[in-house]
Amino acid sequence: MIKLSQEHLKIICAHAESTYPEECCGILFGYLVGNSKTVVEVTPTDNAWSSETATDFTGNIETNDDAFLYSKRRRYAIAPQVIFQAQRKARDRHFNIIGIYHSHPDYPNIPSEFDRLYAWQEYSYVIISVKNGISADARSWSLDDNHQFQPEAIQKCS
Ligand SMILES: [Zn+2]
Repeated sequence: MIKLSQEHLKIICAHAESTYPEECCGILFGYLVGNSKTVVEVTPTDNAWSSETATDFTGNIETNDDAFLYSKRRRYAIAPQVIFQAQRKARDRHFNIIGIYHSHPDYPNIPSEFDRLYAWQEYSYVIISVKNGISADARSWSLDDNHQFQPEAIQKCS
């Protein structure tokens, strides 16, 4: 389970709408108690996906010539230096990076195969669907021992 406040959800929704029709992404900071994650801060980041990133990844994804699939409308990436800064910030403030959020413009809030392949085992992945520019439902996912995504309940707190 992941606990997200209405305020954090608002930040994610606003970010998702501002980058529409491209995907947005960001980092979820917080802490873990037992199986329950609590988000304490949400930090929007740039979607660093580019054709160069695509080239780095193509060794592992099925070839698809549709440029759309390799654009920010269907992909996101967080720059390594941004992750590094986030790790340092988490350490300084005694919490952890507990997950990543991103949006799916005009697409359901279920993880893509690409999302699955590049997901980290210990993170939660919050995906928000955006329909015609308006944020819809968010769902959270985490990997099981077979590197398959399983839904994770979101508890909305005030
Ligand atoms: Zn995705």
